[in-house]
Amino acid sequence: MYDLIIIGAGPAGLSAAVYGRRAGLDLLVIEQTPMGGGQVINTYEVDNYLGLPGINGFELGQKFRQHADGQGAVFHIGKAVKISDDGEKKSVTLADGTVFAARALILAGGAEHTKLGVPGEDTFRGQGVSYCATCDGAFFKKRDVAVIGGGDVAVEDAIYLSRFCRNVFLIHRRDSLRAAKSLQEKLFACENVEVVWDSVLLAIEGGDLVEKIRIRNQKEEAEREIPVEGVFIAVGMHPDTEAYKELVACDENGWLIAGEDCKTDVPGIFAAGDIRTKRLRQIVTAVSDGACAVASAEQYLSLR
Ligand code: NAP
Repeated sequence: MYDLIIIGAGPAGLSAAVYGRRAGLDLLVIEQTPMGGGQVINTYEVDNYLGLPGINGFELGQKFRQHADGQGAVFHIGKAVKISDDGEKKSVTLADGTVFAARALILAGGAEHTKLGVPGEDTFRGQGVSYCATCDGAFFKKRDVAVIGGGDVAVEDAIYLSRFCRNVFLIHRRDSLRAAKSLQEKLFACENVEVVWDSVLLAIEGGDLVEKIRIRNQKEEAEREIPVEGVFIAVGMHPDTEAYKELVACDENGWLIAGEDCKTDVPGIFAAGDIRTKRLRQIVTAVSDGACAVASAEQYLSLR
């Protein structure tokens, strides 16, 4: 039995692994892919992580992973599908049936991409529809593409794609962007990006591959077709808390309810990073959560 099992190997989970190992805990990190790093590895450029301006997201994710590895964290690849609490012993069941046990758990599985649910979204997934510009953008060199959304991710994606796509249409449902002002300035300086305001995506259409999108301007109540070969959907994230929600309290949107101390309503089970209720989901806040969750876990373990 481990002292601590950390589910998730993004910034929160890996930071928890570093702090946990430094506290002398015997710990296991469950990661879904052998690369770890979480969402950050799909980010082209990270410009707001203290001390490392402009670092490539994949490189930063690998640095996090290597740091935890260097501290002696043990990793296991798998997807947690169930957790259970037997007081002093918490168990984690993986999709392949493997079961691990520990005295405390840190849930740090992050969040996943939200879908729009429009016609064509599922049909053309992988045939022009993508949720990751840095993963799939290179397939659309010199082509016209659309990005849907108005947050940091959508704007970053549009800037990134503008570097090699012919034209980028950023489709946003309101008349102002949610993204950070610094990103907006970079976006508005891109000559081949058209921001299509007040518009929602109605459908993605084509034959074998995406050929066009249909959008609707909500203010003018007008429909428009835009020929594009790629559609990048960046309308936010939601938590993957299916495996936990029977045991641990979630809010109405599925985020695990926990404060800055990362304590959930179950003693010995902690939530760190994007997966928990919080205002600001950033790499730096996830890394900070990893440390706070271990401090709470250590306190819990020391009282036993
Ligand atoms: P987000 O900030 O929640 O933005 C989602 C965007 O999608 C919003 O503009 C929203 O429109 C739009 N949207 C949501 N549902 C929609 C729908 N059904 N139809 C049309 N549009 C819809 O999500 P995100 O951009 O994925 O970012 C997630 C978190 O990561 C945020 O906290 C963000 O700050 C952080 N992040 C930070 C950085 C960075 O600092 N460099 C980079 C990436 C991500 P409304 O604006 O109208 O709500």
